[in-house]
Amino acid sequence: MTVAVCIVTVAVVCIFVFRPFLTTRGRIGEKDAGPGGGTRLVEEREALIDAIRELDFDHRMGKVEEDDYRATRSRYENRAVELMRATEESAGPKPEIENRIEKEIAALKKKDTVTCGGCGWETPEGARFCPQCGKALAESRL
Ligand SMILES: [Zn+2]
Repeated sequence: MTVAVCIVTVAVVCIFVFRPFLTTRGRIGEKDAGPGGGTRLVEEREALIDAIRELDFDHRMGKVEEDDYRATRSRYENRAVELMRATEESAGPKPEIENRIEKEIAALKKKDTVTCGGCGWETPEGARFCPQCGKALAESRL
């Protein structure tokens, strides 16, 4: 009798496990194409990690039954692994682009600039006149 109840419970859990799992996979595929899709995956992953921690806590407190705990935890773990792979894939080319942008920004910042006393426009050092308002920059530097 108890075994039958367990089997039914596992079957019901399986339905709940695979339904959101499959829809999530579909969403991941869609989001990979668009920019910024990795952010939500990361958020979902973090929420999942929190859920696992909470589940562990509940289990330790004796709030969750062993079978329930194991089934739910393995479901969370599978999803976390799937999300980690997805976030790694979507975040893969991202750091490269970010590094390049950061390098370019750093290179731009390194260049000495002259701030126009008239309008505040930053012009690379060596320019004699502000390209924004036409004020003579040599004067503002003196
Ligand atoms: Zn100016």
